[in-house]
Amino acid sequence: MLGYSSKADLLRADLARDIYVRSGDRSAVIAAILCRTETSFQTEVSWRRKDGLVLDVVLHGRRLSRPRRGEPLFEVMAEDVTARRRAERETAAALKLQSDFVSFVSHQLRTPLTGIRWMLELAQQTPGLPEETAQCLADARQSADRLVGLIADMLNVARCESGKTRWVPEEVDLAELTASVMHELRPQVEQREHQMSFRPDAHVPRVQADANLLRQVMLNLCSNAIKYTPVGGEITITAGLRGAEIWWSVRDNGMGVPLEARSRLFEKFFRADNAHTVETEGTGLGLYWVRRILAQGGGRVWWQPAPAKGGASASPGSVFTFALPLQPTLVQGVAQ
Ligand code: ADP
Repeated sequence: MLGYSSKADLLRADLARDIYVRSGDRSAVIAAILCRTETSFQTEVSWRRKDGLVLDVVLHGRRLSRPRRGEPLFEVMAEDVTARRRAERETAAALKLQSDFVSFVSHQLRTPLTGIRWMLELAQQTPGLPEETAQCLADARQSADRLVGLIADMLNVARCESGKTRWVPEEVDLAELTASVMHELRPQVEQREHQMSFRPDAHVPRVQADANLLRQVMLNLCSNAIKYTPVGGEITITAGLRGAEIWWSVRDNGMGVPLEARSRLFEKFFRADNAHTVETEGTGLGLYWVRRILAQGGGRVWWQPAPAKGGASASPGSVFTFALPLQPTLVQGVAQ
């Protein structure tokens, strides 16, 4: 493995000078085994081969139960993980390049688009516009709004994937946060003539969470409930303590999720077929982002069918629930 021609050749090498490039916590873990506080260890180090090439190596060690001549004995297996580590570094670099590119393009698009939106809004205020012109302006404005939403989603996901979005916990009052989200969404709720209510349990303890990110999570789940529920729907938000977690749910009596789409809801870019027909525009990035962000705070999110109220033929609607631990467990760099 190290390219030495014989055992004697290897024994002439100086461990510290010729072989160990990075010794990690090797001394500490071996000391723990010798002091009998641990029976096994695993640690990662870097070794230099005789030809100078540096290897990433994982050492798996264990203490042998029968000491020889009273001396503790342990055996170590060295696993060469150089290729694996190189592939991981390359994947991380490619992901970073990709998300940097998306961030760059999104930023560049956002500024002129904001200008276009303002201009359209101003033009819409021109008195005495012919009906056809007013309609064209309204359509253009709606398209610009959609683009702004799309760019915001892309930026959010790019930031999250490149590890730039940090979950910084503070004490959060879920009822207060929910009320502010409902306030922000009131125009959309009224436009679609939905009834939206909040019915928390009698006692909802404060939770350690990132207030800004959690607000975005709630906004995402509630806007979906508004979008994917036919006009005049019923949307109910609940919150309460379940074991050592806080659960927060939004339930609608909308189109629900077809059976074949349920396991894919939180995948990047996924949109169910029934959603396409009602809302042709959409990115399929919202729920993906929600899942990743909650995972950073040690939480999770899932979907369940809402029990149908209008008999067996009625569509069941959706319940999206997220759970957060009362004691935060920060998980950085969550895998996909
Ligand atoms: P988008 O809304 O832009 O499509 P999301 O990631 O927020 O992206 O949602 C992904 C998909 O999940 C939606 O396209 C839709 O198929 C489904 N979905 C989300 N929320 C609901 C809901 N409340 N009712 C029914 N389907 C939903």
